[in-house]
Amino acid sequence: MKIWSVLTDDMNSCYITKLNVVHIHHVFNGSRKAASEKYGFLVPLHPTLHIYGPDSVHMAPNRGLDLKLKQDCQKYFEEHYGSREEFIRIFGRSYL
Ligand SMILES: [Zn+2]
Repeated sequence: MKIWSVLTDDMNSCYITKLNVVHIHHVFNGSRKAASEKYGFLVPLHPTLHIYGPDSVHMAPNRGLDLKLKQDCQKYFEEHYGSREEFIRIFGRSYL
């Protein structure tokens, strides 16, 4: 798996806290995991923001930070890759 992100060039520091203990998170998970890798929708997150905190992206899906990351990736997609219809076809729904 190629580790890269459209959101940051620094995969070793948390995208939010800048701390250098990170997990690599797939912004779109499950069946969309491969598409996340293809389009660079990965993001380094400190473990508390990834899976451990109550507001972490896996504990609080589709709101707060998780929603923000999905929206940022969708905006990037629509600016660089294709239309909203294509985004929905690949990622299942619109987050904007
Ligand atoms: Zn994750």
